[in-house]
Amino acid sequence: MSTLAKEFGIDKALAQLGLQETNHGTSTGNQHFGSGPEIKSSSPVDGAAIAKVTTTTQEDYEKVIASAKAAFMEWRVIPAPQRGEVVRQFGEELRRLKEPLGKLVSYEMGKSYQEGLGEVQEMIDICDFAVGLSRQLHGLTMHSERPGHRMYEQYHPLGIVGIISAFNFPVAVWAWNTALAWVCGDVCVWKPSEKTPLCGVACQQIIAGVLKKNNLPEGISCLINGDYKVGEMMTTDKRVPMVSATGSTRMGRIVASTVGERLGKSLLELGGNNAIIVTPDADIKMTVIGAVFGAVGTAGQRCTSTRRIIIHEKMYDKVKDAIVDAYQQLKIGNPLDENNHVGPLIDQDAVKNYQKALKDVVDQGGNILVEGGVLSGQGFESGCYVKPAIAEASNDMAIVQHETFAPVLYLLKYKGDVENAIEIQNGVDQGLSSAIMTNNLREAERFLSHAGSDCGIANVNIGTSGAEIGGAFGGEKDTGGGRESGSDAWKVYMRRQTNTINYTTELPLAQGIKFDL
Ligand code: NAD
Repeated sequence: MSTLAKEFGIDKALAQLGLQETNHGTSTGNQHFGSGPEIKSSSPVDGAAIAKVTTTTQEDYEKVIASAKAAFMEWRVIPAPQRGEVVRQFGEELRRLKEPLGKLVSYEMGKSYQEGLGEVQEMIDICDFAVGLSRQLHGLTMHSERPGHRMYEQYHPLGIVGIISAFNFPVAVWAWNTALAWVCGDVCVWKPSEKTPLCGVACQQIIAGVLKKNNLPEGISCLINGDYKVGEMMTTDKRVPMVSATGSTRMGRIVASTVGERLGKSLLELGGNNAIIVTPDADIKMTVIGAVFGAVGTAGQRCTSTRRIIIHEKMYDKVKDAIVDAYQQLKIGNPLDENNHVGPLIDQDAVKNYQKALKDVVDQGGNILVEGGVLSGQGFESGCYVKPAIAEASNDMAIVQHETFAPVLYLLKYKGDVENAIEIQNGVDQGLSSAIMTNNLREAERFLSHAGSDCGIANVNIGTSGAEIGGAFGGEKDTGGGRESGSDAWKVYMRRQTNTINYTTELPLAQGIKFDL
């Protein structure tokens, strides 16, 4: 354990979470196994090794699926409110372990400690939501065209839900899926990102304790670990009727076609290219806070990070100067130190992508306003710390059309009506999050109308980043079309059944068809 890790209490956090130097990356509840090669979990904060996690072999995977299938037989017949009670207890455990888990998220992934705590809070929030939901899960009743008939629909669990998650939300995305899937009566198998495997082991230990206390089958929560090949075990497996996959659009295309080929369901939460429109009626102070947090928070590694600011020409210089000025105040460094605003990128590959984007933006005619660069020297030994950069660009540049998962912000200018800004905002392949900063009701409503933003999330006077769990979360176009979390997103974890009951002594056919014997 590094000196920095000890100084910030990572050793204590790991002990509280029951983590070892080497951890089994495959488990069904409390049964830990996994004989595949180890992955090293190392921190982008200081480059130090944290622990090792074993990966999942095909043989291990078969054991997991057998256990999950057996668990489903029991879990699906437990009344939903009782399943909700288990999720409630899980939420209580998360409250108890919020600090150590938030610290591990921060140290293994590199986001600020505050954001690490926020991620655990999202897990707690979705548990609370799911508990209430467990007394609902309602279908509709409808009037039958036949006399003496009753018609209604109900929702049943699907079975095994496979979850594939990205590195940047190493715990919350799993909880968004599992908390809902569990109250719906499904069992879950999770493959976390190979870049943040320890967070996966920590979460699994927490739920395993709850399952054990309630004497419930192990296979309700299963963990598998490894790279895309382990993910493929689920995407190609007919025994997994649904796969929820969060990650890049590149990954989503492969997952969608693999799962689609076997007519499974997939829920896709993929990349974004999110923009804030700044109109002549915008509040500049609010705009700057929203834009800067959106662009540099989590070092630009949120799916909802602000990548483009589309500013009206009348406001352009004012907004540009204010944002550039705010960038000068940013403190980059150890994300566990709450004085810093910007932590590291996840790894050296991410740094290379960032450097390439900065080169591309210049090659494609952009104008750098705030220089980027990789930081070195004391405190930056991991080589993953980069300076947030800003460039003036245009929407048709290839690099602007692309999601660079790093703090690179593009300023774009629009003229005339808000429609022109909306056209630029929609003029990318991705469709996750969007925002408008304006005090003008007409502009705001046009942005929110059916001719407005084409994204899954459209905000007024709020940035693009940071969603509440109560709404359905997800995006359109290359973002994949999936919705998770709040609203009626639970329906995707269930199968719908339409029931018609005849309580007469006749058998009339629908559409008045005559069939007399
Ligand atoms: P990634 O696509 O490299 O990996 C994501 C996960 O998919 C990992 O667990 C990986 O092992 C797995 N995977 C990759 N190829 C696979 C395959 N062929 N079959 C099965 N599994 C496969 O993404 P990343 O670098 O970890 O995360 C960053 C990306 O995730 C960004 O594009 C970001 O926008 C996106 N993201 C989207 C959301 C959202 O809700 N829309 C949330 C978080 C992250």
